[in-house]
Amino acid sequence: MISYKELGLVNTKEMFAKAIDGGYAIPAFNFNNMEQLQAIIMAAAETKSPVILQVSKGARNYANQTLLRYMAEGAVEYAKELGWENPQIVLHLDHGDTFETCKSCIDMGFSSVMIDGSHLPYDENVALTKQVVDYAHQYDVTVEGELGVLAGVEDEVSSDHHTYTRPEEVVDFVTKTGCDSLAISIGTSHGAYKFTPEQCTVDPETGLLVPPMLAFDVLEGVEKELPGFPIVLHGSSSVPQDEVATINKFGGNLKAAIGIPEPWLRQAAKSAVCKINIDSDSRLAMTAAIREVFAEKPAEFDPRKYLGPARENMKKLYMHKIINVLGSEGKAL
Ligand SMILES: [Zn+2]
Repeated sequence: MISYKELGLVNTKEMFAKAIDGGYAIPAFNFNNMEQLQAIIMAAAETKSPVILQVSKGARNYANQTLLRYMAEGAVEYAKELGWENPQIVLHLDHGDTFETCKSCIDMGFSSVMIDGSHLPYDENVALTKQVVDYAHQYDVTVEGELGVLAGVEDEVSSDHHTYTRPEEVVDFVTKTGCDSLAISIGTSHGAYKFTPEQCTVDPETGLLVPPMLAFDVLEGVEKELPGFPIVLHGSSSVPQDEVATINKFGGNLKAAIGIPEPWLRQAAKSAVCKINIDSDSRLAMTAAIREVFAEKPAEFDPRKYLGPARENMKKLYMHKIINVLGSEGKAL
């Protein structure tokens, strides 16, 4: 049993309370490899933003849970080297699907876990979430639960339709489970293909496709039931069209991919939403940079010469999210 506290990590409790009071949200970025982790830490250190490092099931399968945990431990020291004296870094399990998975992450030093029982019947979701909370809280580890189902595909989490969170259920769920934050479904979705062009309307000014509006009424209903309780948005990539264009220009073949407009996320961040998950945007930034190098310098074969630009492009994206979308810059001085 290793406590995250020995690793210099923090749980989400204090940072969420401050984020709700301050009208901003904490970025939750997924990581799968060193360059992505470096980019996240460089961006967070440079902006002095609290940050949540997320490990999904796909990441654990790809990179190994133990290795990722040691990388997060290293990230704390790296952040200090970069001049961030008091790094506020959370290591979070994204979409934990069983009690055993959550327990194994808690036992090896994760400071926060999500138990996703959203696909289960309500009572089973309550029971599973409570089991995880009861274990996690013994070690001061925070727990995110989920009510409502998001559409889309991300790693091994998928559903073909939304089921919006029912505001009338949230008090009962939070009271019975004791969870520390709640992921809700208001129309965001996993993956880069959140909406088809047919689902969108055209903005007459910009000519860009605008997806169906998020269900802000559901968010307001939840806030009314649970004043001041930390709310989480999954599936909140914006699918930057310049990255999609770069990918397609240099040999990629992405279909029309449409994400959540950033002004909507900025609006959500000002509410009780205090954690916003972003994964696909970083994948797009990485792929765009690598494709560009491959196309423009076909003789290049040193991985540092294409992973370096990929890291730089991801860092730029993370900084943009922190400063312009989430508003978390300077909140972890
Ligand atoms: Zn998710």
